[in-house]
Amino acid sequence: MNDIEQKIIRLIEEHQEEIIHIGRTIWEYPELGYKEFRTSQLFCDFMEKFGLKTDRNLAVTGAKAYLKDKKEGELTISLIGEMDALPIADSPYANPETKAAHCCGHNAQMAGMMGALFALADPQVQEAMDGNVVFFAVPSEEYVEMEFKHGLMDEGKIRYGGGKSELIRIGAFDDIDIAVGHHISPSVTACVANHRTNGFLSKIIRYEGLSSHAADAPERGVDALNAANLALHALQIQQESYRDQDTVRVHGYISNGGEAMNIIADTVVMEYSVRANNLPAIEDANRKFDRSIQAGAVATGCGARLVTMPGYLPTIPVKDTRAVREAVEEGAGSYPVMEEDPNMIAGGSTDFGDLSQLMPLLQFNTGGYSHELHNKQTHPTDEYLAYVVTAKIFALTAYKLLKNKAEYARELMADFTPAMTKAEYIRYMDAHNVTETISMKPVMLD
Ligand SMILES: [Zn+2]
Ligand SMILES: [Zn+2]
Repeated sequence: MNDIEQKIIRLIEEHQEEIIHIGRTIWEYPELGYKEFRTSQLFCDFMEKFGLKTDRNLAVTGAKAYLKDKKEGELTISLIGEMDALPIADSPYANPETKAAHCCGHNAQMAGMMGALFALADPQVQEAMDGNVVFFAVPSEEYVEMEFKHGLMDEGKIRYGGGKSELIRIGAFDDIDIAVGHHISPSVTACVANHRTNGFLSKIIRYEGLSSHAADAPERGVDALNAANLALHALQIQQESYRDQDTVRVHGYISNGGEAMNIIADTVVMEYSVRANNLPAIEDANRKFDRSIQAGAVATGCGARLVTMPGYLPTIPVKDTRAVREAVEEGAGSYPVMEEDPNMIAGGSTDFGDLSQLMPLLQFNTGGYSHELHNKQTHPTDEYLAYVVTAKIFALTAYKLLKNKAEYARELMADFTPAMTKAEYIRYMDAHNVTETISMKPVMLD
């Protein structure tokens, strides 16, 4: 470690209580996606206290703060913190007002990202960095509360469910060259996270049949549950056609399965996700999904409406992780650093994946939380690791990318070919926002 790196660690150590306080404050007031008004305000107040300029109301609640005044042509690194919590009202850690809980640990991302400023605000540290740093508080990573988000779409406030997706669309990432992200991982202490994740499309299916007495007059009814049944069977037999390396996951549930045992179901609603780790495999699974839904409708004579919405894109790993790797090793201190399996593919999805299609993305994990994520019992057990070590790694990564005339950042950029341009990204998203109606009239005998 050089003098500056030691100074970064020392400055963050000196402010550990304030950093833990930020983590706790956000933990105690969890807010759901596109409603993170208080968290966003807290972020802006903190940044402005240090004299940083902020851009607010980006994708409803998003905000970014520039470490220095923008200069044409300089490299810009963004440290990203997700603001949103999960709708787990029955968690013992849920806030009664917002009915949300930070059981995905995003409050630690915010504490770490904001805490990094205690080091990066130092004039000597800034002097040693050839480029700018943007602190970015981003909304709505969890793909939940779709009805509320559809409302925002109808009002013209957003077009996409994911906060980063929406920020890309409105151009808020146009002046960022490299993104740095963090996530809590309860099973590790500290590690680089440079693995592929699945992307997904979101599906809502509504079958329309005709209700009738299930025992007395079944011939007068058209059972929408039969259509769903057949579709589920068709989906199941598609499984054998997927390649192992594509990690296809098709999963969902019946959110409305009819009204009563003795009434033939006239409406059945299913919600599904179609996931895979590359775009051709998502397309393939999506086509098979749509055909399976159609099969249910055609065979039973039910009507069907099939809504497809863009979810998130697969995360593409980068080749050069030196900056974040060194930062994890130095920032972890006495905590053991874990090696990530380079071939790991996560079945779940994140809108960090969308960013990784457009720019190099460096990510790391820290631990310090109990249980698995998204469990209602999940809570911080080691605030120093979750918040303070995270702040060290964020600050060190930014510094390492930009030190020595931004050598690491420039090499990372030179080695990176975007999978798509912003215009192609928006085209992809919009092309997967479709509603298809398969005859909404059940076929009846006269
Ligand atoms: Zn989550
Ligand atoms: Zn998360």
